[in-house]
Amino acid sequence: MVSYKTPAEIEKMRQSGLILYEAMKAVKAAIRPGVSTLELDRIAEKVIRSHGAVPSSKGFEGFPGSVCASPDDIVVHGIPSAQVILKEGQIISIDITAIKDGYQADMARTFPVGKISPEAEKLISVAKESFIKGLQVAKVGNRIGDISNAIQTCVEGYGYGVVRSLCGHGIGKEMHEDPEVPNFGKAGHGLRIREGLCIAVEPMITKGDWHVYVASDDWAFLTRDHSLSAHYENTLAINEDGQPEILTMPSGIDGEDL
Ligand code: MG
Repeated sequence: MVSYKTPAEIEKMRQSGLILYEAMKAVKAAIRPGVSTLELDRIAEKVIRSHGAVPSSKGFEGFPGSVCASPDDIVVHGIPSAQVILKEGQIISIDITAIKDGYQADMARTFPVGKISPEAEKLISVAKESFIKGLQVAKVGNRIGDISNAIQTCVEGYGYGVVRSLCGHGIGKEMHEDPEVPNFGKAGHGLRIREGLCIAVEPMITKGDWHVYVASDDWAFLTRDHSLSAHYENTLAINEDGQPEILTMPSGIDGEDL
């Protein structure tokens, strides 16, 4: 069941979103060759808790981290570890969810570690570009399938793959609510977008084949062909004007970015 949020509820999610933005900025500043993904996890957790929020992923279905830290061919749900030391030339996706006053926000970015290849840079930039294409059609009167199709068309236009078995989602009191927001699909299909809809839109894209598998830790999703993957996510609210607001970017998509 889809729950539509009141402006007061959206305000609470906005607060959670701002905290996430601060946490992501702190993580970004700490990313360099030689840092462990556990150190990044600790940095994010400290920022989140210093604002009176709680990292939602910690303990969620047994997940041990405050962030998901997913290098290179890990698409999502990498477990932060002191043993995973980032190296020059890698890319690292960081996915953070936080809850404050009972309302969640969810956000992911993929960052370079030191100097990376032009191919990796391109993959990261297309993940963001595809999010923007989805954002542009996430408005009252359109349907979820319009978002899905806009993302897929963008990503595949560059010859990249779109992961099928993972998707964006509604968000609010729960980290994952209805509806699902796939990153592929048909325009004009799916739930009609209404005021108060809050969704996490999160393209997960691959340089090669889009098939994924689950690692032996039962958490990490990897690309089957071990090609690089990138992830870009923000939490959106559809406001009274019928337009989407990015709750996890205080200055909007054209403002300060991470
Ligand atoms: Mg999400």
